[in-house]
Amino acid sequence: MRFSPEKLSIPDQRMKPFIDPEEIWNIINNTKPERLRVRDVIAKSLDKQRLTMEETAVLVNAVDTDLVDEIKQGAHELKQRVYGNRIVLFAPLYVGNRCTNNCKYCGFRTSNEDAIRKTLSDNEIIQEVEALEDNGQKRLILVYGEHPDYSPEYIAHTVKLVYGVKKGHGEIRRVNINAAPLDIEGFRIVGESGIGTYQVFQETYHPEAYKWYHLGGKKRDYEWRLTSLDRAQEAGIDDVGIGALFGLYDWRFEVLGLLRHTNHLEACYNVGPHTISFPRIKDAVSLNLDKKYETSNDDFKKLVAILRLAVPYTGLILTAREAPDVRREVLQYGVSQIDGGTKLELGSYSDSKNEEQNLNREQFKISDARSLAEVIDELLTNDYLPSFCTSCYRMGRTGEHFMEFSVPGFIKRFCTPNAILTLSEYICDYAQGETVDKGWNAIEKNLKKLDNEVAGSTREKIERIKLGERDLYF
Ligand code: SF4
Repeated sequence: MRFSPEKLSIPDQRMKPFIDPEEIWNIINNTKPERLRVRDVIAKSLDKQRLTMEETAVLVNAVDTDLVDEIKQGAHELKQRVYGNRIVLFAPLYVGNRCTNNCKYCGFRTSNEDAIRKTLSDNEIIQEVEALEDNGQKRLILVYGEHPDYSPEYIAHTVKLVYGVKKGHGEIRRVNINAAPLDIEGFRIVGESGIGTYQVFQETYHPEAYKWYHLGGKKRDYEWRLTSLDRAQEAGIDDVGIGALFGLYDWRFEVLGLLRHTNHLEACYNVGPHTISFPRIKDAVSLNLDKKYETSNDDFKKLVAILRLAVPYTGLILTAREAPDVRREVLQYGVSQIDGGTKLELGSYSDSKNEEQNLNREQFKISDARSLAEVIDELLTNDYLPSFCTSCYRMGRTGEHFMEFSVPGFIKRFCTPNAILTLSEYICDYAQGETVDKGWNAIEKNLKKLDNEVAGSTREKIERIKLGERDLYF
C-alpha cells in the first residue's frame, strides 16, 4: 500500500511501521539540487524551521563542492546562532555482552565463538562507576546485549545501582540506556528506575538490507525494532534516541529514514527524538562486510551537517568510533554531545593495566581513545564550553533541545550557566595542569555573554562550589 505522509497525523499510525522504501527512493531520485533551491533550504533552516523530507533530499543530492561547503557553513552558523559553543560530555558503560542475535556487523554476534562473554557483577559495576566518577564523568549510557539475562528488572536494578555510587564529590546524575527493544510493560519498568534517554538504533531503515544483516535472534524482526520507541512512548518514556549504523546501506536512504522516524514520533506523540546518533561501521572482530556502502569521510561530514539543518532542535551525538580529526571537524556542524575517555571492554575503566583493545571482548573498534581530561583540554583550547549539565531532566523541563532551540534566551538563562557550574566542579575536583587555567579563562569569557543578573548569580554559585558545595544548577 502506498504510504501517505498525511496519515501521520492520524493517531492510529502509532505502533505501525512507517518506512516505505519506494517512497524514500522516489524522493531521493526525483529531487534536484538546484543551486538556488539549496540556498533556500539552508535559509529555511537558519530561520529555525524544520525541513521536510523533500527539502532534506535537496541537500542530500547536492554534490558540487561549493554547495556542500555552503551546507556545512549553514550548519555551523545554525549551531553558533542557536546553541552557542557548549558541548555535553558522557561515557558509555558496557554492562554485559551476552547476546542471542546474529548480526553480521557485530563482534557480539552468536556466531562469533571467539567472543569473550561477560556480564559485570554488581561489585564490578560499582568499581567501574567509581573509576568513571574519578575521571569526572556525570552522565553515562549503559549498554546491554539482547539476552534474557538483561530483563527490564535487571536493567532497572543496574540503573539504581549506578545512581547509588558516590565517591568523593563524584556521582552519576543521568543514566541513559542503550538496550534491546522491550514490550510496553518492560519499558515501564525501566522508565520507573529514573533513566534519562532510552536509545534503540534501527541500524538500517531499509527492510531488505535489514534482513540481510540480521541472521538470527529477536533482532531479525525489523518491525518490532522499528516500533520499539512507540512502545516506549506508550509506557511513558518520552525521552528517546534514534540512530542508524552508517555503512550498512546507502547513507542517503538512512538520512531520510532518520527523518521519517522523527516525523513519525512527532506526529504520533507530539515529541521528536531527543537525540540522533550516526555511528559508522568500524572493524569488529572477523568482520567481513562488503565495502559497497562504506560512508566516506566526506559523505559523513556532509550528512552530519544535513542532519543539523534538517532537525535543528534535536541533539546530535558523535562518538569515539570516529578519529579525533574527524570529531574535531564534525563538532563544528552542530554536534551537541560527545563521549570522552571511552573504553568498551567490559570492566576496563577500573582496570588501569588494560589499555589495549581486544576485539573479542568488544563490539567494535574505537578511533578516539583519548582520556576525558585530554578531550576536555582540547575542547577548551578550541573555544568550546564542556558541560556535564543534567539540569533540565532533573527539573522536569522536558523536550530540552526543543526549548534550547525555541524558547528565547533559554541558552543564556540555563545551558551556559549550567555548563559553567559543571565545568567549575570539574576544575575544582579533577582538572590538572594547564587545563585548570584554560577552564577558568573559558568560564570568565562565557560569563561575559550572560545578562548581568544571571552572571551575578552564576558567580555566586561558583564561589559556593569553590567552598565545597556541589550540584548547583539553574
Ligand atoms: S540547561 Fe537543559 S537544555 Fe541546557 S544543557 Fe542543561 S539540561 Fe541541556
